[in-house]
Amino acid sequence: MPLDLVTVPCLNDNYAYLLHEPKSGAVAVIDVPEAAPIQAALAERGWSLSDILITHHHHDHVGDVDKLRAATGARVTGAAADDHRLPQLDNAVLAGDVIELGGETAMILDASGHTLGHIAYHFPKSGILCSGDSLMALGCGRLFEGTPAQMWETLSSFAQLPPETLICSGHEYSQANGLFALTIEPENAALQTRCQAIETARAKDLPTVPVSLGEELATNPFLRAGEASVKAALGLENASDTEVFAQIRRQKDSF
Ligand code: ZN
Ligand code: FE
Repeated sequence: MPLDLVTVPCLNDNYAYLLHEPKSGAVAVIDVPEAAPIQAALAERGWSLSDILITHHHHDHVGDVDKLRAATGARVTGAAADDHRLPQLDNAVLAGDVIELGGETAMILDASGHTLGHIAYHFPKSGILCSGDSLMALGCGRLFEGTPAQMWETLSSFAQLPPETLICSGHEYSQANGLFALTIEPENAALQTRCQAIETARAKDLPTVPVSLGEELATNPFLRAGEASVKAALGLENASDTEVFAQIRRQKDSF
């Protein structure tokens, strides 16, 4: 049985995710922007938290880790590379490590670019990628610490996952990301359709995540930096994929 997935809105525009393994009852939360909505989502379902999985050190992702750990006794996993700036870890992991959640396993993937030491959690059996602020719905995180080449490598490695993989990213930025994406690819019909669906969902205050990797590959300009049509639209026909990605990131930063 695949994991049950619950999207939990937190703070202004953050998301945490609950992953429930039905056979064992194990439950992980991805990031802890604030404890109360996560505890409410757990209580509503009668679930008890076993694991806290941290993607990166930013306060809007780890702010209430200690509070939630104290309330639940959950085991805290995060990047060994960021041990010095994360809440106390019970399990410090490296890219390539595998962790268990009941009968499921998660691969730890390097997701550098937004920060160094950013990791993602890939659950291959259920087809779920928790990408934090690396790959985001119709976007990617700002490059606070990493280089364009690092983020492009991260996105390119995620692009190899099965297209039905659900991308669970850390923020509700889809409307703004969509408006920007349309400046890069105004004629992209899949993007136009998706932007309309996003408008409809947001008008009802519904989350626009998770979303499949296949849909991201068809619409997310940052993932599409290697496409000839995107290069041509930017007048960068002969540039490398990384250069095109860097240009799109620069344009987004000043959008
Ligand atoms: Zn962040
Ligand atoms: Fe964030």
